[in-house]
Amino acid sequence: MTGNFYSFFYYLINSDMRDPILLTPGPLTTSLATKTAMLHDWGSWDSSFNALTAKVRQRLVAIIAGDNAGDSAYTCVPLQGSGTFAVEAAIGTLLPPDGKLLCLVNGAYGKRIAQMTAMMKRQVTSIDFGESAPVDPAQVAAALASDPQITHVAIVYCETSTGILNPLADIADVVAAAGKKLIIDAMSAFGALPLFAREIQFDAVIASANKCLEGVPGLGFVVVKTAALEQAEGYAHSLSLDLYQQWRYMEQTGQWRYTPPTHVVAALDAALDQYEAEGGQAARLARYSANCACLIAGLKRLGLESFLHEDIQAPIIVTVKAPAHPNWDFKVFYELTKARGVVLYPGKLTTAETFRVGCIGAISQPEMQLALDVICGALEQMGIPCLSTVTTVTNVEGVSQ
Ligand SMILES: *Cc1c(COP(=O)(O)O)cnc(C)c1O
Repeated sequence: MTGNFYSFFYYLINSDMRDPILLTPGPLTTSLATKTAMLHDWGSWDSSFNALTAKVRQRLVAIIAGDNAGDSAYTCVPLQGSGTFAVEAAIGTLLPPDGKLLCLVNGAYGKRIAQMTAMMKRQVTSIDFGESAPVDPAQVAAALASDPQITHVAIVYCETSTGILNPLADIADVVAAAGKKLIIDAMSAFGALPLFAREIQFDAVIASANKCLEGVPGLGFVVVKTAALEQAEGYAHSLSLDLYQQWRYMEQTGQWRYTPPTHVVAALDAALDQYEAEGGQAARLARYSANCACLIAGLKRLGLESFLHEDIQAPIIVTVKAPAHPNWDFKVFYELTKARGVVLYPGKLTTAETFRVGCIGAISQPEMQLALDVICGALEQMGIPCLSTVTTVTNVEGVSQ
């Protein structure tokens, strides 16, 4: 029975009906094992589902705070919704109503944190570093020294709107030295870029199921200092985004407050099995780095330039400058590449015409090569000349396992 199920799905995935490869920052291409983990139904009150929730929570804590997990210094609070819901819950719950947040901005996701904090009517101030420079720890230190009202600092580890890597360890040192609390949006970094509680002082790290952990969309989570959460009762601005109550209820009952995303939790557990089998964070970073290097080298051969300098590029998503050609039109390009089996992502810059190509998901170099061939073919069809790729890959076997 199981064999038949699997051969049916292999057929789907390797046939013309197979899904396009998602070179986007999430949702992204997931493995067959992750997809098939969703072929069951669970009751939210069911003890086997509660056990699954507890196991996934522990596994997520262990990824960044494995050494400390035993003494429950950190806990993981999962939350229904996309990543932004978890960011909003973390800010709204951990920042006291009379606290003040310093937001470090170099792209759309940093801006979003400042915006949501203002909407909660909490005090917030931002430093904007533009779209092509990393956050500068010296400017953070100066801002903290000049405004003693600041209690918390928010930083985006990998700013997905460009793919820029922020110097998290240096920023965390500056924030800790000033006696402030750090909240990290590690949405597109968690599980791939190094982030360990033994090295980096933080109060909370926020991420979601559907990025570097290669699960499916539907839940975000916060790995948070238990002591910080214990102090946060009554701070939240929202009923459903109250991280404290979500945590309390989960601790007391083993259940989620409100309907849990059961299938998403099961898929995440399966994705975590594969994460561990692959070799954890180091192995995932190595695969994504190889994907990214393959992509950037191939783009260069096509005459396309990436927006960021390589020394500040995280191996997560690459922003590519659009060809300076009158025929360029992202919508046309998108449809042509999609018809060839590859889904790309629009640019998110306010200053330059770009598109983005993700390096994350259950993909490796054959998929990156395919993407390069497809990009070249689409550009040629649009009458935009590109130097042809030299590639030997002719038969891509669908989704990597
Ligand atoms: C994806 C992402 C988010 C959350 O986005 P959602 O669309 O709400 O899942 C937040 N911050 C960063 C850095 C991201 O990459």
